[in-house]
This record gives sequence, structure tokens and C-alpha cells, in this order.
Amino acid sequence: MIESQLQKHIFAAKALPIRTEQTILSNPIEYLKGVGPLKGDLLKKELGIFTFKDLLEHFPYRHIDKTEIKKIKDISPATDYIQVAGRIISCEVMGEKRGKRLVATLRDDSGELELTWFQGVHWIQKNIQPGQVYIVFGKVSFYMGSPQITHPEMDLFSPEKSDGRPFLEPVYPATEKLKARGLSGRQIGKLVYTLMGLLSAKDLPENIPDTLVQELQLLPRFDAYANIHFPAGNDVYQKALYRLKFEELFLAQVRLGLIRSNRHRYAKGMVFDRVGELFNNFYRDYLPFPLTGAQKRVLKEIRQDTVRGYQMNRLLQGDVGSGKTIVALLGMLLAADNGYQSCMMAPTEILAQQHHAGLKDLLADMPLEVALLTGSTKQAERKKILARIAEGDIQIVTGTHALIEDAVQFRNLGLAVVDEQHRFGVAQRAKLWSKNEIPPHVLVMTATPIPRTLAMTAYGDLDYSIMDELPPGRLPVTTVHRYENARSQVMDFIKAEIQKGRQAYIIFPLIEESEKLNYENLMKGYENVKAYFPEPPYWISMVHGKMNAEQKEANMQRFVSGDTQIMVSTTVIEVGVNVPNATVMVIESAEKFGLSQLHQLRGRVGRGAEKSYCILLTGSKVTTDARERLKIMCATNDGFVIAEKDLELRGPGDIEGTRQSGMLNFKLASIVQDKHLVDLAKQLAEKLLSEDPDLSMAVNLKLKTYLQAQKGQTSWSKIS
Ligand code: ADP
Ligand code: MG
Repeated sequence: MIESQLQKHIFAAKALPIRTEQTILSNPIEYLKGVGPLKGDLLKKELGIFTFKDLLEHFPYRHIDKTEIKKIKDISPATDYIQVAGRIISCEVMGEKRGKRLVATLRDDSGELELTWFQGVHWIQKNIQPGQVYIVFGKVSFYMGSPQITHPEMDLFSPEKSDGRPFLEPVYPATEKLKARGLSGRQIGKLVYTLMGLLSAKDLPENIPDTLVQELQLLPRFDAYANIHFPAGNDVYQKALYRLKFEELFLAQVRLGLIRSNRHRYAKGMVFDRVGELFNNFYRDYLPFPLTGAQKRVLKEIRQDTVRGYQMNRLLQGDVGSGKTIVALLGMLLAADNGYQSCMMAPTEILAQQHHAGLKDLLADMPLEVALLTGSTKQAERKKILARIAEGDIQIVTGTHALIEDAVQFRNLGLAVVDEQHRFGVAQRAKLWSKNEIPPHVLVMTATPIPRTLAMTAYGDLDYSIMDELPPGRLPVTTVHRYENARSQVMDFIKAEIQKGRQAYIIFPLIEESEKLNYENLMKGYENVKAYFPEPPYWISMVHGKMNAEQKEANMQRFVSGDTQIMVSTTVIEVGVNVPNATVMVIESAEKFGLSQLHQLRGRVGRGAEKSYCILLTGSKVTTDARERLKIMCATNDGFVIAEKDLELRGPGDIEGTRQSGMLNFKLASIVQDKHLVDLAKQLAEKLLSEDPDLSMAVNLKLKTYLQAQKGQTSWSKIS
């Protein structure tokens, strides 16, 4: 029956592309009955619906139970959507020009209700039949104390005939523009209904292995799609939702797993099979402290990665202060022991300089050449360094973006460390890889905490190490929230700390839209600080975006060396800077910062043996969201807990570094709400791939066929 419907449809439409059973879903949307070129264009522009498949995956965001007809007198301000039945007793156009609207009155045996339209006024006026009984559905609002429905759905009431509408009617997302052109959420529902009528189980073949379908009691795909749109009841709707969410997450995990294992098996990498003198001598003689268990574990992972002959691509996530730098250094020594060069890329000039200075210190008595290469390296110096890098005279280069410029040619780059990777685009990373015929091992380090499940999904194609242990003896930073009216107490507190020989940061927010405003804001803040801390006896450093690198460095240096006790800055010091003697961090207008940024900033204190404090200053008016963030900051120092909260508050789309990954654009599943399902999908995908890495077993044929048919995202050439 559906087949013949399909045939009819096909023959009715002109110039249809040749289709096979599998391609009905790839049909352009305008070929669907009821769409056509004009509406087709709108669907494309407004909702990104280009094909039948896109429409099928345009899921309703809720369903409305329309079996119940209420009385008008039962409407209260608490009423949301309502369905009533009554007679239209009047209908007239009111107002002029932009204020023009159609107002109708609906009456049942309990009261009257006003219906209003602002759009499509004439069309509705022509079609509405005063005197007739309608079933009216819509969202209730109150205007001057009386209930009304704007743009209601209307159906002529006919008690004997059911029009076949499902009891649970889907509500689809639609834009204002679509609504104005006759494509309301409801109209879209009709299109989906038409589409479902054209499809059969064959068009939506199973893509999850039967064993899993049975184990998890998943609905067949076709049934799942049918019931997510037009459920026969709530139970089956939940089952449909479960199936499709699982499918979405599971397929994503399988894809990532395949990318990862292909890289493990096919991307050739240098072999670091020697743990030599450099590594061993350093470890024995110059390591300033015993490594933490987490540092040792990650080091071991790096050693295993680099000995196999395949490229390492590892994400090292460690909370601020967990000691990632030394791990990177040991990795670079390993590279040097095997005759390879390494580089360490930092997101800012200051951080690159600090890394370089730190490395130079630690390696002072080692037979190794290190260099710094940044945007502000002088031309002559630069030339010299470039030549020595090309010759292989320099083993370890620290730098900024300048490192990935074409002019930088390594003799044999074996390891690229990327610090604070969220500032580097994926494309830039790739550029680093292309510096050799065989790509260097890549170690990406980030302190921006990302919830584990999210990281596994966003960076699922990378191997993943975690350092969840801080070096011993760290005192947790005490964090408090203070309002503006406590400013002088806060300043007194800083004074007391300075008296004890400590240093303090005072951070101002960065207003992205305006550099000028930033500058003015900071200057005002600076004057304010100076009023509390006159020079002498106090000395203040300031770093801001308008300074050139030398000025920044000079100011930074004065703070690092202890010549100044206070550092006034915008967020440029956010990442990586290490001044263990600083024990106070005051964050001005703290409500303007995001959670992960606050956490990063706070990570600048609590780095030494002294007790440290973070003071979040705000005005008296703070939004609920901001208040929640401040509360979280005061409650915990754990970056991973903060990350989980951040995810809950903001949703995954906004988490730094995940946006470009594209792996989080799930249509149905939510990484936050469906966490257990995310974990389950991941676990099952991993199990499947460990048993059948090529998807060559018969049970996985459906999955493989499906993935191969999904073109675009990934190259599947490696799955044969
Ligand atoms: P991050 O992971 O934030 O980059 P760093 O590498 O800058 O952290 O290390 C933070 C501080 O902790 C540095 O002063 C570093 O010397 C120190 N540190 C690192 N590892 C240890 C350790 N195992 N024991 C004691 N101090 C350590
Ligand atoms: Mg660091």
C-alpha cells in the first residue's frame, strides 16, 4: 500500500532524479507532496532541511495530548496550552498598518475567549466561518485580565468523524518566517506525516548489530522514527526516543573509535625506543621534585605511545597546577635521546617566554640547546635560530604561533607539544603535523577542564590522559564572594598579605567588543588600586592588551622577580603564568567571567607553600546564573567538578574547544541529561571495536554498511 502511494508520488513529481530503494531519503525536499520550490527554499534557508532525510530528522520538541477538550471558564493564568471547542460569534479586523490584527471571539457554554492573529489576517478572515463550531488549540496568554490565544490552531468540529489525527500531536520547531509563509510547526507536522507514509522499513534499515538491538530491546529503526513523530502513546514514544538517542551516540562513538584505531594502525610515527642519558641524567640529577603518581602514569603512556611506530596523538588534561610542564619536558628529553627535535607551542608570548625561561633553568647543566621563537624575536636573531633549527643544532624550541610558520623547518621534529590547546585551532595543529613526512608525535595539553564524557566525545579521536592529582603539599585556595561595598576590607586584606611578603593579582574583565573600553576600564581600576597602594612603598605592575610584547614582558618580569607586589591585568595572564609567591587573586566584576575562566585565573595562586585566597568582587546586582557560578567557585577547587557544572549551566555548545569538533551536534541526545546513555554507548562501541576493529564480522555487517553509506565526515577508505 505504501509502495503504491510512493509510486503515485514519484510519477506525480516532475524531473525526479533516478532513485533506488535507498535514495528516497536523499530526495530533495521540494519533491515532497505539499512542499514545492517556494516552501522548499524556505525549509532550506530557515531550518537547513534539504532532503527527505533532513525532514525525517526534524524532530518534534514535544507532543500535545489533544484528546482532552476543556471549558473556557477553566482557563487560569497557570494554563499553558489548552484545547477548547466553541462557536465563533464574531470576527473582525482591527487596527491599522503594523497594528492590524484579526480578532475573533469563541464562545462555549461556559464563557468566551478571544482569538487573535497578527499574520495572515486576510487569509484567515476569508476562511473562518462565523457561526460554526471549532476546536481551537493554542497557548493561552492574558491581556488586560482576559484570556486569549494568539495564532491558534483551528479545526471545524465534527463529532462523528475522526480525521485520523494522532492523539499525541507533535510540535515542531519553526521560525517566525516559516509561520508567516504558511509553514507553522503544525504544517511541518503534516509534511512529516506525508513523508512517513512514503517510507517503509526497507528505507530505514537496521544499523546497530542485532545482538545489541536484542540486548537493549531497541525498537526497530522504522518504528522508532514513526513513533518519535507520531507516537501511539507515551510508552512507545519513550522507547523510540531511547533507540534514536542510543543510535546517535553509539554511531558517533564507533566513528571516533575507528578514526583512533586507524591512526594507531596506519599513521606511521617515529620510534623512540631509547630511554637514554639525557632522560636518565635529568631524572636522576635535575628533577626538582619527585613526580606525582599521575605524572608518572602519563609519562608511561607517552613512552608506550612513542615506541610503537605509530603517531601519538594524545590529549593531556590536567587541572591547573597539576604539573603538566615537567611531563612535557621529560617527553622532549625522550625525543632528544632518540635524536629528535621537539617544540612546545604556547598560546601567548608571555607564556612562551615563561616556558622557555623555565626550561632553560631546568636544563642549564644539560648538553642541550634550547631556543625561543615568537612573533617578537628580532629578525637577525630569528634568522640564526631558524638556521640552527634546520641544521638540527637546537633540540628544543619553545614558541608561539610563530612556530608553525612555513619558514620554520625542522631537521627532524619528533615531538610537538601544544600547551593550552583550546587556543589553537584544529587546522593549526594539522599544520604542525605536516612539518615532516612522518608526522611528529603530538602531545596536546590543556588545563581547561572538560567533563570526562564530553572530552571523550569531543576529543574521542585523540588518546586521552588525565592528571587528576596535584603535587603534594598544596593548600587549597580559599575562595570568597564579596560585594563592592567590601572593597576597602578586600584592599586591607591585600595589604596584610603584602606585609607578610606575598604578592597579589587584581584582574579586570576583558570586554570583547571594545578594546578602548577595556583600556579605560583597566586604567580606572589601576588608578583606584594606586589610591590604596601608593608607590612607594608599594609597587604595581600592569599588563594589558595595548602594550607591546616587550612592555608586557618587562612588567611581568618585575612581578615575577618580586620587584612589584601587585599585578593589575586584564585576562592576559589567564593561562600558565607561574608566580608561586602570589597568594591573593582579586577578580573584579567577577560576574562577567565564565566558570572555566574563573577557574583558570584562580589557578594562578595556590602555587607555593603559602595559603592562598581568591576574592570574587561584584556589584550588588548579580544575575541568578552569575550567582550560581560564584557559588560553585566558592564551593570547590576541583576543575572537573567545575567543568561538570559549567556544562550543566551552559550546555555543550559553548564549552571552549568543543565547538569546532562537530562531534557534539547531537540532534536528540544531550550530553548532560543523557550522561548514562553516553557512557553506555561508549562502552559498547569500545567493546565492539576491540572484538572487531575492521567491522568485518558478519554481526557487524549492518553497521558497516550503514557507516560506509554515510559519506562526508570521515574517510572510510581504511575500513575495507
Ligand atoms: P600546569 O599543569 O598548570 O601547567 P605547571 O606545570 O606549571 O602546572 O606546574 C605547576 C607548579 O607545580 C610548578 O611550579 C611546578 O614546578 C610544580 N610542580 C610540578 N610537578 C610537581 C611535583 N611533582 N611536585 C611538586 N611540585 C611540582
Ligand atoms: Mg601549564
